[in-house]
Amino acid sequence: MIDIGVNLTSARFDKDRSTVIERAKLANIKGLLVTGTNVAESQKALSFCQEYYPYLACTAGVHPHDADQVDDNFIAQLKSLAEHNHVKAIGECGLDFNRNFSTPKNQQHVFAQQVMLASEINLPLFLHQRDAFQPWFDILSPYIDKVPAMVTHCFTGDLSQLKQCLDVNMYVGITGWLCDERRGQTLRDIVKYIPLDRLLIETDAPYLTPRTIRPKPKSSRNEPSYLPYVVATLAELTPYSASEIMQKTFENSQQVFAWEIQ
Ligand SMILES: [Zn+2]
Repeated sequence: MIDIGVNLTSARFDKDRSTVIERAKLANIKGLLVTGTNVAESQKALSFCQEYYPYLACTAGVHPHDADQVDDNFIAQLKSLAEHNHVKAIGECGLDFNRNFSTPKNQQHVFAQQVMLASEINLPLFLHQRDAFQPWFDILSPYIDKVPAMVTHCFTGDLSQLKQCLDVNMYVGITGWLCDERRGQTLRDIVKYIPLDRLLIETDAPYLTPRTIRPKPKSSRNEPSYLPYVVATLAELTPYSASEIMQKTFENSQQVFAWEIQ
């Protein structure tokens, strides 16, 4: 298994980051893709990767929540980070009109520039989207064949959105959102339509702790060693077995991110 979405730079891991990485290894997780959410966090993610590569690799990008805060030269900064072999994708980038921590106008501008950057330097896109599907899809559409891959991370949309993503060959990242029978119900109903060769798995740690963990962990903090709970729920809700899911998502992750893992 490879966890393609870990916010390992979060302060919630400051006290025991290396132990968290060790526990992931013991849980048979073969690699962690560390999410970059702004220039400074992407720089921090890269520095962890320099210590732990190839077990850790990362993305470099600006999350829509951070769009109001970018420097004028943020694209040049991301581009220089992306020159490192440890950086496997541009992102996490996209649109989030759910909470609008940054203005929609700035979000769209900062997102569009990162999409252009990915196509210029030929890296995949690691994408976030919430309550903004159509404008998000419209920004991506002209670039479908101009980037090596698009990954819609932590997918929580409906069937028509899923179909639009699959129609343009996006990869779909599934988190512990699936393990939540209340707010995850739509996703639970449609996850079976994701072909195995488009599926990726992630924890989005420290967020979205699977509600299926038994015994219930004392801490609310999610971590990569809980990824098997996402696999178990996927195996319940799709025609695929847990071992097929583990094997195929492992291959997909390495292929999408050009990341060779032993
Ligand atoms: Zn996200």
